[in-house]
Amino acid sequence: MNKKCVIIGGGLGGLACGVILAKNGYNVTVLEQNYQTGGCLQCFYRKGTKFETGMHFIGSALPQQNLHKLLNYLEVTENVRLNQLDPEHYEVFSFKGDRFEFATGREAFIENLSGQFPHEKDNIARYYDLVMKISNASSLHSLDPAHNDVALSTKYQLCSINEVLDSIFSDEMLKNVICGENPLFAAERNKTPFSSHAFIFDFYNQSAFRVQGGSDAISTSLLNTINKYGGTVLTRSKVTKIHCNESKATSVEIEGGNVIDADFVIAGIHPARLIELVDSHLMRPAFRKRMSSLPETVGCFSTYLKFKPGKQPYYNYNIYGYDQMSPWNCEIYSKDNWPRGYLYMHLNEQPHQQWTSSGVILSYMNFEDVAQWRGTRVGHRGEDYEQFKLEKAERLIDLVARDLPELKDSIECYYTSTPLTYLDYTGTEAGAMYGVAKDINLGMSSRVHHRTKIPNLLLTGQNINSHGILGVLVGSIVTCSEFLSENEILKQIREANE
Ligand SMILES: Cc1cc2nc3c(=O)[nH]c(=O)nc-3n(C[C@H](O)[C@H](O)[C@H](O)COP(=O)(O)OP(=O)(O)OC[C@H]3O[C@@H](n4cnc5c(N)ncnc54)[C@H](O)[C@@H]3O)c2cc1C
Repeated sequence: MNKKCVIIGGGLGGLACGVILAKNGYNVTVLEQNYQTGGCLQCFYRKGTKFETGMHFIGSALPQQNLHKLLNYLEVTENVRLNQLDPEHYEVFSFKGDRFEFATGREAFIENLSGQFPHEKDNIARYYDLVMKISNASSLHSLDPAHNDVALSTKYQLCSINEVLDSIFSDEMLKNVICGENPLFAAERNKTPFSSHAFIFDFYNQSAFRVQGGSDAISTSLLNTINKYGGTVLTRSKVTKIHCNESKATSVEIEGGNVIDADFVIAGIHPARLIELVDSHLMRPAFRKRMSSLPETVGCFSTYLKFKPGKQPYYNYNIYGYDQMSPWNCEIYSKDNWPRGYLYMHLNEQPHQQWTSSGVILSYMNFEDVAQWRGTRVGHRGEDYEQFKLEKAERLIDLVARDLPELKDSIECYYTSTPLTYLDYTGTEAGAMYGVAKDINLGMSSRVHHRTKIPNLLLTGQNINSHGILGVLVGSIVTCSEFLSENEILKQIREANE
């Protein structure tokens, strides 16, 4: 009999584990609380227009690049069309109106940036090569077991971004520009490890893409692949309990009372949600305490823009705007000076499109701003909450319009979400944008291991390795290596790409 593996959460992490295990003969059941799978990959429609909620662009997806290989292995590439962002400027930054850009690939990146910072040209090359070295130092990121340099990886997990950049560059503005992508991982000064910066920069600089038609195409594809290999994905199936005997987990209970037996349980959910599901002496108080007091990344306020037909040209790049000359400390704000920065992106509907119907503006928001409405239901939080969101959206649009004055004219209407929306839809504690935060000052004590104190209960998803499409897929390999070994999975990935 095939071993029964029950996976809690149909986000990217849960679904990817589902594919890997179903492909390898496990009897997989994925349980998702929402009516749609995908977690942050979910999209929604309003008045016929589609909006992406938590996956707007991906990287390293050209043939033979890492994400392409992983998606191939997970059989995603057959069904999902990706369109590349403009290699000449996939990222555009505005610091109080001063514009800078990132170009794709080593030579173009160095050439482009040294145009504005000629005195730092050699250092830009030095920076680039260091970032590549760090990204390749992990076998899971290079997908090559021969490439493990634990000493180098550890070193840069323990240095802050600002500290390393200070040692490479002298130009303050250049350091700020290099950190323009901070919102992609909610980087914090003196806290976030340089390794996180290196992975994200390298991932997108290799090549940057949008998912045509929206990121839910990826979750739909994963779901179909699980079904193809005999697995099951059940939506509207909120897990309320994990039952244990004296030594291990035995079954999970779904809201309504149904119980599903399990040889293994994988939780693709936030660790703070996991400990609520387990009432067993096997999960010790110290573990519970640590899981419920992990540092979280900042939350996010999103304004989803529906554009008038034929009015808003499609931007084949992302725009980051700052109301200051630095990308740092945007998570520290007062009621009066919010928002301090934004990230603005369009939905890709087809190759070479001229106009767009949908865009999103993201800006940091701390959970405490919306904590008073915790416990209310989506869509029924009250007039004061609606008023709060309206004021925030108007301010955010005003900030973007300082860089793009034509924007307001293109907007037909807009919708909004807050950290509370993310908490309620995904269960991520405090609606944290990217889950648990990495902090060099806390070292390994802020890290979440994929093993729990219960031998057949494992964690997966953005909290065990890193967030984002690559971080979560690598995390799925880590979790599934408990069943198959890392080398076996890497071998299967290589074979799928031959
Ligand atoms: C605003 C925003 C923008 C982002 N943009 C990008 C981007 O452009 N590119 C990128 O690579 N990454 C991006 N990310 C990050 C990326 O989306 C996430 O890191 C990733 O999708 C997380 O996947 P996950 O499976 O770990 O968690 P989730 O997506 O949170 O999935 C967890 C799932 O578990 C379910 N669940 C929770 N509790 C239960 C329960 N008790 N029973 C059953 N089901 C349960 C939830 O409903 C959810 O579906 C973004 C994130 C945010 C918030």
